[in-house]
Amino acid sequence: MKRVSILGATGSIGTSTLDLIERDGDGFQIVAVTANCDVERLAALAIRTRAELAVVADETCLSALRDALQGTGIEAGGGSEAVLDAARRDCDWTMSAIVGCAGLRPTLAAIERGGTVVIANKEPLVSAGEVILAAARQSGATLLPADSEHNAIFQCFDAQRPGTVRRIILTASGGPFRQWTAERMRDVTPEQAVAHPNWSMGAKISVDSATLMNKGLELIEAARLFPVPGERIEIVVHPQSVIHSMVEYVDGSILAQLGPSDMRVPIAHTLAWPERMATPMQPLDFVGIGRFDFEEPDPQRFPALRLARQALEAGGARPAILNAANEIAVAAFLERRIGFLEIAAIVADTLDCHDPPAPDDVDAVLAIDGEARRIAAARVKDCVA
Ligand code: NDP
Repeated sequence: MKRVSILGATGSIGTSTLDLIERDGDGFQIVAVTANCDVERLAALAIRTRAELAVVADETCLSALRDALQGTGIEAGGGSEAVLDAARRDCDWTMSAIVGCAGLRPTLAAIERGGTVVIANKEPLVSAGEVILAAARQSGATLLPADSEHNAIFQCFDAQRPGTVRRIILTASGGPFRQWTAERMRDVTPEQAVAHPNWSMGAKISVDSATLMNKGLELIEAARLFPVPGERIEIVVHPQSVIHSMVEYVDGSILAQLGPSDMRVPIAHTLAWPERMATPMQPLDFVGIGRFDFEEPDPQRFPALRLARQALEAGGARPAILNAANEIAVAAFLERRIGFLEIAAIVADTLDCHDPPAPDDVDAVLAIDGEARRIAAARVKDCVA
């Protein structure tokens, strides 16, 4: 029986992960589950799955969690240290699915513990890629990508012969505004931005998909996870979201991974790896799909892509600044404090006025992240004023 923990268990990825685990029945034992403050959902899933430990990151929610778990025998914890303890608790497999850089320390704690750590939470890898990879090398933890594109690349990439790879082709759906003019995007509402045409996801990543910042973060994520230089990672828009990414070899062969646009497919791959497990997904209906389209992404209408590529090329602190400013701008957009087009503008401004040296440990990353958040938040205030 695999002992598994889920960081961010109440979110979209957490829910998909639990769905697979609960369908499987006997193959998994849930060790720790965490949330920020959704006590009702966390307590319900902890009780349902007979978890050993449930933790809320927001300490003010701990007493409600204790009440909800009273008499169940499930331990309750609250606060950021308790999340780290949950991440360190002995288990074989951890899903890292907290949203944003809030997941950095918990992901690192899981990696330092060892075992298999599945990365859905891409922001820490963007901001602190070197630190995370060094921690994995030191502890011997196995990192597996849950992001559908990176999981696709992982399935196609010949890790024994990286020199035979000519390029990685990351596919992008193009998001809900793929065919919109910049003028029309000016008045986009949060409801429109989170309504992704192909995927059902949490609010932050849905907005990132609409600005294409998600693809920019994924570009950096791919450069961290696979030994291929950034200039050989290309992005192509594929609106059907059936081909999840491709790897091209020097002989011209291209391997692609295809599947339904449901995160349970890549998550199942990581849950069973190196074996396979069944999922409830219907087989792909190729005739029904009919055709695969490809387009070049437009960096004029979607400047986030350009900013992310520049941050990857410059390296150092740039990816952490890009990510932190984006987190602040997306939150402000979801709160209706700024417009949709201001998200990328705030990220660009923050990158312009913050240029610290490259971080060499997690504290340095978090200091850069904190300062970038402060600058971006001031810029949000300017927009509102
Ligand atoms: P959700 O917003 O649906 O869920 C986020 C989870 O993180 C919830 O459990 C939430 O708890 C918890 N959380 C939020 N803030 C904090 C905090 N400060 N400290 C600790 N926990 C916190 O996000 P998603 O599931 O959509 O995404 C999770 C990660 O996976 C993101 O990094 C995203 O980019 C990545 N990802 C998501 C995909 C998807 O299909 N959804 C696809 C590929 C990658 P609570 O419910 O209490 O707020």
